[in-house]
Amino acid sequence: MNPLETGMPSFDRDLFVIGGGSAGVRAARMAAERGARVTLAEAGGTAGLGGTCVNVGCIPKKLYSYAAHYAEAFEESRGFGWDGPSPRLDWARLKENRRDELARLNVVYQKLLAGSGVQVLSGQARLLDGHTVQIDASANGERSTGRISARHILIASGGRPHVPRFPGHEYVLTSDQMFDIEPFPARLLVVGGGYIACEFASIFHGLGAKVTQLYRGAQILRGFDDDVRHFLAAEMVKKGIDLRVNSSASAIERTSDGLLVTLQGGGSVVVDAVLGATGRVPRVEDLGLERAGIAQRADGAVLVDESYRTNVPSVYAVGDVTGRVQLTPVALAEAMVVVDQVFGPAPGKGPRTMNYEFIPTAVFTHPSVGTVGLTEAEARGQLSAIGVFRSEFRALRHTLSGSSERTLMKLVVDAATDRVVGLHMVGSNAGEIVQGFAVAMTAGATKAVFDRTIGIHPTAAEEFVTMREPIILEPAGPGLA
Ligand SMILES: Cc1cc2nc3c(=O)[nH]c(=O)nc-3n(C[C@H](O)[C@H](O)[C@H](O)COP(=O)(O)OP(=O)(O)OC[C@H]3O[C@@H](n4cnc5c(N)ncnc54)[C@H](O)[C@@H]3O)c2cc1C
Repeated sequence: MNPLETGMPSFDRDLFVIGGGSAGVRAARMAAERGARVTLAEAGGTAGLGGTCVNVGCIPKKLYSYAAHYAEAFEESRGFGWDGPSPRLDWARLKENRRDELARLNVVYQKLLAGSGVQVLSGQARLLDGHTVQIDASANGERSTGRISARHILIASGGRPHVPRFPGHEYVLTSDQMFDIEPFPARLLVVGGGYIACEFASIFHGLGAKVTQLYRGAQILRGFDDDVRHFLAAEMVKKGIDLRVNSSASAIERTSDGLLVTLQGGGSVVVDAVLGATGRVPRVEDLGLERAGIAQRADGAVLVDESYRTNVPSVYAVGDVTGRVQLTPVALAEAMVVVDQVFGPAPGKGPRTMNYEFIPTAVFTHPSVGTVGLTEAEARGQLSAIGVFRSEFRALRHTLSGSSERTLMKLVVDAATDRVVGLHMVGSNAGEIVQGFAVAMTAGATKAVFDRTIGIHPTAAEEFVTMREPIILEPAGPGLA
């Protein structure tokens, strides 16, 4: 039976998608390509299409990370025989080029949606009940409010940065604002120790700012492998970032010399700008969740079951608004699972399922981090016996570059099955390298398979297939003994 012809009451649309970010755009396109009548509402209008990732997340951040790497590259090129005056950063040009590229991407998204037959509305959508959405739209400078009924509704409204309140919190900028900050902050304070905080610290340091980073915990990148956390922190400090752990800002005031930030526990720093990267919260304001009776977590996240269905059966939610794994590829995958469930899988394919076990991820710090699977601590907690392989070295490039940057690679192996269950790297291009190994690990690769794999020489990645002696083997398991 065609799932679109179920004899249910008639609705204006088969699917209404709230939010034109990673998840919303993917779901809308896929559903429309299955023959569903789809409307998508994006609060930011066409300039908001692509959501956080395209406009104030992954893409602009990575572009700025590339920009920041040039400073090191110019410096290191001397060791390879290059000479000449040191180039200087034209911040205005970088911002303008980024804006142009994002505008291009917004149009690409617009065309993709139009090409799939999705109706796109610019405006804030609000649930009235489990089948009705009100949209405050604006077109050609005029505002209008309309109601649309839909057989299914998908909430994909994403998240937003959260800055805690303290004296002077109004001076704190969020990651959304950093891309266009003017003037370029010669002295920047980054508050936070998560991946966004670390990435911005690296980026602005690379672009030429004097960066101080405060983190209230004992070490940055909570949730990552402990070796990775300590190793990255040391590398960031080596590069010149003033990283202070067990530290936080308690007050900010403007002085003639800049922003005077008082630190918890004593001391202060004076900076030109403060970035608060202390977490993100689900974007659920004014969504009508209470009115529609949709259950939420204490932090506001929309509660869903394993099928991404809320407690109101016609309403689904995916991506950052569910407050789980906040990554674009996860949001995309969840969106496709919902579309397969509701409208059927693509012709000739089975329904997609979501596997949260081996989600690879990267942190675009300098040097970068790539990771997939269990940390050593998680493996110890979950497995009866593990083997740990670890290698730390200076990459070939740095034998001439003059840089003291080092690389860390680490494997965690389940000794009972010999499966590689964790793979971690700090070093150049870690994300590019770990993506490939994630395929092998998802396919169940064992350490023996890694050992049989021929390396590519000379690369850093070959180290992952040439680590022979475990540094930790406890208690000795059959697979590694
Ligand atoms: C600085 C930064 C860097 C990041 N870097 C990475 C990275 O390197 N790799 C990675 O995988 N992930 C990264 N992320 C995370 C990634 O951007 C998110 O996980 C992803 O965008 C989530 O997609 P989404 O569709 O759930 O939400 P979003 O992309 O946030 O999209 C939600 C959309 O809904 C719209 N909206 C909200 N409410 C309404 C409403 N009521 N009506 C209509 N529209 C509405 C919003 O305007 C927004 O466009 C980063 C995030 C940030 C902030």
